[in-house]
Amino acid sequence: MFKKIFSIVIVLAVAVVMNSCENADNKATEETTETPYNMAKYANFTLTTDISQLSDNQKEMLLLLFKAADLADEIFWLQNIGDKEAFLATIEDPALRQYAIINYGPWDELNNLTPFIEGYGPKPAGAEFYPPDMTKGEFNSFDDENKTSLYTLIRRNEERELTTVWYHEAYKERTDKMSALLEEAAQLADDPGFANYLNLRAVALRTDDYFESDMAWIDMKDNLIDLVIGPIENYTDGLYGYKAAHEAYILIKDVEWSEKLAKYAAFLPQLQTELPVDQAYKNEVPGFDVDLNAYDVVYYAGDCNMAGKTIAINLPNDERVQLEKGTRKLQLKNAMQAKFDKILVPISEMVITPEQRKHITFTAFFSNTMFHEVSHGMGIKNTINGKGSARKALKEKYSAIEEGKADILGLYLVTKLNEMGEFNDTDLMDNYVTFMAGIFRSVRFGASSAHGMANMLRFNYFLEKGAFSRNDDGTYAVDMDKMKAASTDLTQKILKIQGDGDYEAAANWIATDGVIKPQLQADLDKINDAGVPVDIVFTQGPEVLGLK
Ligand code: ZN
Repeated sequence: MFKKIFSIVIVLAVAVVMNSCENADNKATEETTETPYNMAKYANFTLTTDISQLSDNQKEMLLLLFKAADLADEIFWLQNIGDKEAFLATIEDPALRQYAIINYGPWDELNNLTPFIEGYGPKPAGAEFYPPDMTKGEFNSFDDENKTSLYTLIRRNEERELTTVWYHEAYKERTDKMSALLEEAAQLADDPGFANYLNLRAVALRTDDYFESDMAWIDMKDNLIDLVIGPIENYTDGLYGYKAAHEAYILIKDVEWSEKLAKYAAFLPQLQTELPVDQAYKNEVPGFDVDLNAYDVVYYAGDCNMAGKTIAINLPNDERVQLEKGTRKLQLKNAMQAKFDKILVPISEMVITPEQRKHITFTAFFSNTMFHEVSHGMGIKNTINGKGSARKALKEKYSAIEEGKADILGLYLVTKLNEMGEFNDTDLMDNYVTFMAGIFRSVRFGASSAHGMANMLRFNYFLEKGAFSRNDDGTYAVDMDKMKAASTDLTQKILKIQGDGDYEAAANWIATDGVIKPQLQADLDKINDAGVPVDIVFTQGPEVLGLK
């Protein structure tokens, strides 16, 4: 019984933490500039992958999935601004039009939703999910059990009273078409689990009951192709956060990396016993059932394709499914490559000392990110002094401390597995220098997010311990031995705070070191002034994959 409750606690903890991981790349905001829009903010990247291992049926199936994803995209336009064609028809300047397409509307998503097209006021907080003239008071007194559903629109009837409309009714023509496409695709699916999921997802889109399809999605394990589709995240509803927005990802599994991850996850219990802390802080046995896979994503549509792009997904969001079956963590390898090439490399050319730039590699960036995710399952979830879970004891400071733990334990895992001869994809120095450069990417827009704060705690800790030094020209150099030693000390410090549930220590540490200090701010300003892109837009679709 204890074991069962314990594993539920872990699932919940991982689920919440992962949500913050997933969003880290969506939070970038910029100072308002004089121009109404800035195309240079986005770098272009082509989403592709090797499809030579796919069967003819699978290739034919992919074409149907692209069509279904396009329908999710059309629905998202309706949810965010209304009629897409009518809106775009008003924009003559092709560059401005392109910028509007990236933002799915006239508001700059990476610049505090500032309107960049004349004639538009602020974005309605509830987007198109609610009537524009609805007040919160009116919503509160609206008596309808479905009003807070993820899958209803709030509309006005002929008497101007509020009413709810299910998505499958409001978007019937499109959701019916999507369902039919998924059923047709199921006929072509080589993997029976995926076929089952597609059929259940088709039913879900017709009924707005996604539970069975979410369960089936978690159950399938061997499918090479994956599809995330439907109303999923609720960030676009800025009014209440009730309403889910339509989106779709089409994914091809990176079997080689997924197998490696399963292999490394199997070392976790052993590595846990070797953590550099007193026994009391490492008594827990880390989860074996880490469902963590790597993918190339070949299509972003709808909500997830707007402005800042996610490079990792953790789903499903339905807590009933999470409790029963856990979640799946999807790492989007080629999208990470995009951010590496277009953002991290230019940043490191400005802030890493020239002799060490050869150590900035994608394999190191990717492996650091993957081991960060694996590390969330390590360490300590429950305090050793009866204060309950570390999450509860550390309250709102927990996320930053937990993200910091995952970062530093990720580096610890890479180091250990390398020393054991199990992980030799990279030179360890690559992992360390790339890790350092990653700090600059993560704090470029401030330390306000959990990830940003965690990065600042570590940056200031490393600086104090001489793990890296700042040259007079404003570049930084890693001292690997000192960084290794500092990593060990930092691991001890974080696991102790979590195990002791020491809220005071966490709060004091964040107050002094979870902030960007003036010298670093000056170095970050240099990056922003140089116009290093903020995010990515994709060239994507069947043509890019050579499918038609
Ligand atoms: Zn994380």
